[in-house]
Amino acid sequence: MISIHPSVDNGVKAGAKDFAGGTLVCQCATDPVEVTVAANSAHNHVCGCTKCWKPKGALFSVVAVVPRDKVSVTRNANKLKVVDPSATIQRHACIGCGVHMYLRIEKDHAFHGLDFIHTELSPQTGWSAPGFAGFVSSIIESGADPAKMGEIRGRLNELGLETYDCLTPPLMDALATHAAKQSGMLKS
Ligand SMILES: [Zn+2]
Ligand SMILES: [Zn+2]
Repeated sequence: MISIHPSVDNGVKAGAKDFAGGTLVCQCATDPVEVTVAANSAHNHVCGCTKCWKPKGALFSVVAVVPRDKVSVTRNANKLKVVDPSATIQRHACIGCGVHMYLRIEKDHAFHGLDFIHTELSPQTGWSAPGFAGFVSSIIESGADPAKMGEIRGRLNELGLETYDCLTPPLMDALATHAAKQSGMLKS
């Protein structure tokens, strides 16, 4: 059996409709970083890109978005450092364990205003469930065997996760709409 990610390998668990958020805790045994999120996640998905944090041995990460004004660091903020300050998506990672606690976009961008989070870091349950798999082909760049891609896509589909090599059409449309407004091609 292909292992996609420990949180979906036994089936995708549905989220709770009335869930209103919780905490994310890094993997440090002492003085863990804690981030409080005062909203449920949205657009949760399995991601194959080379940048997202994922647990050891997992082929994919699981990542979701929340409004950035709902995200606050509530413990040990001094342990957070941006992985690459020049990147569009700033990954605030724990210097102790390496876990990415939240990802924020400071630039003008279609997804500005949304922070990316890994809900598996939360002791609470009820976060929205992953709904698709993005950047699937990119796992090859992290060392996955190209010959296994058919099997991997098959397993994702079996889990009810439709596969895309970038993002879903609505999200790609949002990115292109933003780019067209920036260039003046579309009047906003
Ligand atoms: Zn840590
Ligand atoms: Zn990713």
